[in-house]
Amino acid sequence: MINIKSPREIELMAKAGDIVYQTHQYLLKYLKPGITTKEINELGEKFILSKNATPSFKGFGGFPAAICISINEEVVHGIPGDYQLQEGDIVSLDIGACFQGYHGDSGWTYAIGKISSDKQYLLEHTKQSLYEGINQVKPGNYIQDISRAIEIYAQEHKLGVIRELVGHGIGNQVHEEPDIPNYDTHHKGPMLKEGMVIAIEPMLTLGSKAIVLEEDDWTIATKDRSPSAHFEHTVVVTKDGFRILTGE
Ligand code: MG
Ligand code: MG
Repeated sequence: MINIKSPREIELMAKAGDIVYQTHQYLLKYLKPGITTKEINELGEKFILSKNATPSFKGFGGFPAAICISINEEVVHGIPGDYQLQEGDIVSLDIGACFQGYHGDSGWTYAIGKISSDKQYLLEHTKQSLYEGINQVKPGNYIQDISRAIEIYAQEHKLGVIRELVGHGIGNQVHEEPDIPNYDTHHKGPMLKEGMVIAIEPMLTLGSKAIVLEEDDWTIATKDRSPSAHFEHTVVVTKDGFRILTGE
């Protein structure tokens, strides 16, 4: 069942979304060569708690940390640890926060120092693919319109589209119905209605779309070890379009 949120619920989700956005902005200044992913996680967790919120992903399905941190060929669900960021890395932070029972969810991929032009291309166009999807959000459109816009944009830019991982509805659960694939399933899927809140999150690669589960049983990486990027916003369907709840 797809939950339609009341105005009160949407305002709580906007608060949760703003905390997620602020956490990204706060952590951005620490993303320098030498910091470990474990240190980033600890800073992020403290920041979220300081905003009277809790990290949505800590313990979610058994995930052992507050923030998912995925480097280079890692796509999502990376576990923070002793790895030190290096010049030229790209690092994806996937952050969720729960405020008064409602979640916000946003992932973003950042460059560490100077990165290769290929990685720059990947970041720029994965981010744009997210906005191509978001621009389809309005009452009367279908989930398929979002999926198709992302896939078409990715294909035009010769980027691989990961299929196994999808966007989702969000509310007082981090993952609610409906699924939001980043490729055209050739089904319309549910119609978008005012008050639906969804997380749209393309995951694109510079190589093939095939993925593997790493030995830690959490981290998803590209099979061909090509770099991957992930951009995600939580968005509410409004009367005549959308409002992004997790930043700009
Ligand atoms: Mg996320
Ligand atoms: Mg998500």
